[in-house]
Amino acid sequence: MPIAAAEHALLEERRSLSRSEVAAVAALPLDHLPDLVALAHRVRLAYCGPEVELESLINAKSGACPEDCAFCSQSARFESDVDVYPFLDLDEVVDAARATRDAGATQFCIVVAVRGPEERLLAKVLDAVDAVHRETGLEVACSLGLLTATQAERLSAAGVRRYNHNLETCRDVFPQICTTHTWQDRVDTARLATDAGMELCCGGILGMGETLDQRIDFAFELAALEPCEVPINLLDPRPGTPLSDQPTLSPREALQAIALFRLVMPSAWLRLAGGREKVLGELQGMGLLAGANALIVGNYLTTTGRPAQADHDLLDALGMPVADGPGEGRFVVDAGGGHARPARRPTIPVHVES
Ligand code: SF4
Repeated sequence: MPIAAAEHALLEERRSLSRSEVAAVAALPLDHLPDLVALAHRVRLAYCGPEVELESLINAKSGACPEDCAFCSQSARFESDVDVYPFLDLDEVVDAARATRDAGATQFCIVVAVRGPEERLLAKVLDAVDAVHRETGLEVACSLGLLTATQAERLSAAGVRRYNHNLETCRDVFPQICTTHTWQDRVDTARLATDAGMELCCGGILGMGETLDQRIDFAFELAALEPCEVPINLLDPRPGTPLSDQPTLSPREALQAIALFRLVMPSAWLRLAGGREKVLGELQGMGLLAGANALIVGNYLTTTGRPAQADHDLLDALGMPVADGPGEGRFVVDAGGGHARPARRPTIPVHVES
């Protein structure tokens, strides 16, 4: 049985799965989904523990982006009703960070809709990073698009802990999604972020027309970058974008994908992000039992999330404590026993098939 073999490899041999092993698990009919979900949860507990990491983000500069990502209502090339505004005042960013802290999140991500940051914008972001650190003590992540090496080093020197730059989809599908920059451009920025000393947050959007096989490719392409965190968005088609009529994944397809991503990246923070309400609906809790161990709380970039309290209630119901920080090298306190222990396990190398 592919699931038993995967379990033995990940939990007994403590080794990563090959692509063919993951493909064998993925080929099982969806009737086997409960077995796959159960394995993904066991792997998550064995490699990461029960904690769930919470993050909020702020869309600090919205819309009017020159790029043409087909899923994105912030592209200037599509007719959408998204808000368009320049970089927010510093006070607004700090107020949002305070709200993030009050909502129980430990990480605050400053996001701007650009191809990459020009100097004036970068200077504003650096000021905001400093202010958020000073006023809230939160860990700060940034998502500013494509970077140069110098820009990555300046962000790292400013104390930005984690840089988000998604691959969005697999290499083969990317040209159908975006023509104004390449998949390799995104990989290059991901590598610059880690070279500069920041943790890498790198994921994408599922349900943009990729096949199951391509979804597996995508998981392995992400794993090769060794991201600390992998946001999984589930396409919630935006009016006015080229993907506005794309059928959404079924909840079972989404849960299967989340579980497969966990098997491929056993020790990453796997974060359920945009689209979880729309696609998973009543089964959102199942996402956290299928391998996910992090959430975006509050609103997303262009869509509205649910109240943070609803997620805290869900975590209480699942018996999953909130992590006290965003990962690597930090310690978490077990809600029951109160003892501290490492939040993250060492990663295992990605298996590359010849
Ligand atoms: S995904 Fe980012 S780069 Fe692409 S159009 Fe939207 S804001 Fe611009």
